[in-house]
Amino acid sequence: MKAVHSYRDYVVGADTQIPLVNGQMTKAINFDNAATTPPFVSVIKAIVDFSPWYSSIHRGTGYKSQFSSMLYEEARKMVCNFVRADQGSQIVIFVKNTTEAINKLSYRLCSKAEDNVVLSSCMEHHSNDLPWRDKYKVDYIDIDQQGRLSLLDLEAKLTCYKGRVKLVAVTGASNVTGYRNPIHQIAEMVHRHGARILVDGAQLIPHAPFDMKPADSPEHIDFLVFSAHKMYAPFGIGVLIGPKSVFEESCPDYQGGGTVDLVTHDYIRWAPPPQKEEAGTPNVMGVVALMESMRTLSRLGMHQIDRHETSLLYYGLEKLRRIRGIELLGSHEHQNRVAIIPFNISGIPHGTTAAILSYEGGIAVRSGCFCAQPYVQRLLKIPPEEIKGRIDDPQAPHPGVVRISFGLYNTREEIDVLAALLQHIVLHKK
Ligand code: PLP
Repeated sequence: MKAVHSYRDYVVGADTQIPLVNGQMTKAINFDNAATTPPFVSVIKAIVDFSPWYSSIHRGTGYKSQFSSMLYEEARKMVCNFVRADQGSQIVIFVKNTTEAINKLSYRLCSKAEDNVVLSSCMEHHSNDLPWRDKYKVDYIDIDQQGRLSLLDLEAKLTCYKGRVKLVAVTGASNVTGYRNPIHQIAEMVHRHGARILVDGAQLIPHAPFDMKPADSPEHIDFLVFSAHKMYAPFGIGVLIGPKSVFEESCPDYQGGGTVDLVTHDYIRWAPPPQKEEAGTPNVMGVVALMESMRTLSRLGMHQIDRHETSLLYYGLEKLRRIRGIELLGSHEHQNRVAIIPFNISGIPHGTTAAILSYEGGIAVRSGCFCAQPYVQRLLKIPPEEIKGRIDDPQAPHPGVVRISFGLYNTREEIDVLAALLQHIVLHKK
C-alpha cells in the first residue's frame, strides 16, 4: 500500500491556504468529497495537453477533428475496461452527469411502461428516485434499523409484484451513510425474477473496483451510471452504460444534430446508439478529462484506494465515537461502507456545526439532507406527522445532519484537526 501522504500530490489545491473568521490563514481541509472531488493534477495536465488538438468531433474531416473523434471513441472502450462492462453487448453513452443519465434511462424504458413497476429504495439520492415517479409505478425497498437495504424486503417485493417489476434501481453506495449495497447479490435476485438492475455508481465508482461482469452471468449489472466530477475530473461529463438493445428501437429524449442518419421533412432515420443518445456537439474535453481520471485511478489501484479510504473511515469513526455529545447516524461499523460519516452534535443545529467547522477551522463539510430527504427523515426517525407538518408549512426548517466524506488525499492529521474542533464545540456549547 502507498504511503498515505503520497496521494496528496495527486490532487490540485490539497494545501490551499484560506482565511478563517479571525483573519488567520489556514490550510483548507476538504471533507466534502461526496459532493465533488478536486481534480487530479494529471487531469488538468491532460486538458491542457489536449487543447492544441481540440476540435468538434465526428463530422469534421480536418486532422484535429479526426484525432478528437478517435480519442472520444477510444474513451468508450476505456470506460468499459474500467468497470468491466461487456463491450459486445453494452454501450457507453456520455452524458452530463448521473442525474442526466438516470433521467435519460427513465425515458428510454418508458415507452414499454404502462403496468410496469420500478423498485427504487428508501436510501436513494433524489436523482435515483424522482425520474421514475412520473413514468412508472414506483415502490421502495425498505431499510433496516441502521439504514441498510433490506434484502428480505427486496425479495418480498419482487415476489409480490409477480413479474411486473422491470427495473430495480439501487445505489452502489449511499451518499448519506456510505453503506455499500451487495449489488451482485441484488442482481442475482433481480434477474431471477426477470427484471433488470440499475446501479447508481456516483458514490462507489471513485472509491472501489467495480465489475459489471459478462451479460451471461446471473450477477451482471445491466445499467450503470456515474459522474466524473466525483472522480477527480471536472463537471459536465458522466456515463450511462446499458445493453445496446435497449437504446436501439425508441426515439432519443433529446433530438437534433448528431442523433440522426437521414432526415426529410416527413421522415427521420435515427443514427445507431450511442450517437443517437448524444444530441448536440459532444463534450470531448470532458471525455478527455474522464479518460485521464480513470487512467490515474487505475495507476493508483482501486483496491489500494479502497483500503486507504477504509482506514481513514475507521480512524474517523473511532475519533468521533469518543467525543461525548456526538451522535453518529446509523452504523458505527466501517465494513461495507465508503468513507462517509453522518453525525450531529446534540443540541446544535446541523447548519451551525457546519458553519463553525468552516469559519473556525477551515473545514468544508456538508449539512442538511444531501438530496436524500426520505432517507435522512428515516435515519433521524422523524415522525410522519412532523413530515406532514412540513409539507403544510414551507417555512418550517429542514431537519438534517452533518456529513464528512473523505477522498483519497485526506489524511489522519486532518481528521485530528476535525476531532479537536468538534471536541471544542461540544465543550463550549451553551
Ligand atoms: N446519486 C448519488 C448517490 C449521488 O451522491 C449524487 C450526487 O451527490 C447523484 C446521484 C447525482 O450526481 P450528479 O449531481 O453528478 O448528477
